[in-house]
Amino acid sequence: MKARGRLRDTFRQLTIEEIEQGGLGPGLGKERITNMIATRPDWCISRQRIWGVPIAVFLCELCQQPILDPALNKKIVTLFESQGAEAWHTTEVADLLPAGAACAHCGGTAFRKETDILDVWFDSGTSWFAVANPTRI
Ligand SMILES: [Zn+2]
Repeated sequence: MKARGRLRDTFRQLTIEEIEQGGLGPGLGKERITNMIATRPDWCISRQRIWGVPIAVFLCELCQQPILDPALNKKIVTLFESQGAEAWHTTEVADLLPAGAACAHCGGTAFRKETDILDVWFDSGTSWFAVANPTRI
C-alpha cells in the first residue's frame, strides 16, 4: 500500500506541475483545478480505462482519418443492438469492415478501431435525458 500511495502522490505532483506549465487559463481556473488535484486524494485515474461507451469509428493507420460510411455505421449500430457496446472491444476490425475497404483520403487499407470512449458526463446526460424524456428519443 505504501508504494501505491507514493505512485498516487507522484501522479498528483506531476499533474500539478503540468497544470503549472500548461498555460491553463484563466488564472482562477488554473488555481481551482490545482487546488482540486492537490486536495482530493479520492480522485483516481481509473476513468481513463477502456470501459465506457466506445467512440465507434475506424481510423486509417496511415493518415489517421476516420472512415465516414453510413452503411458501416448502421452495421455497428446493429452489432451494438444485438451484443451491446462491449462488442466494439471483442470484434475484430476485419469482421466489421467491408472487404476491400480503403481510406478515402490516402487509399490506405489498414484500419484500427478508436479506443477512446465517450466522456462519462455524456453518458450521464444522455441517460438522464432518455429517462426524463422517453418520447423525445
Ligand atoms: Zn488514410
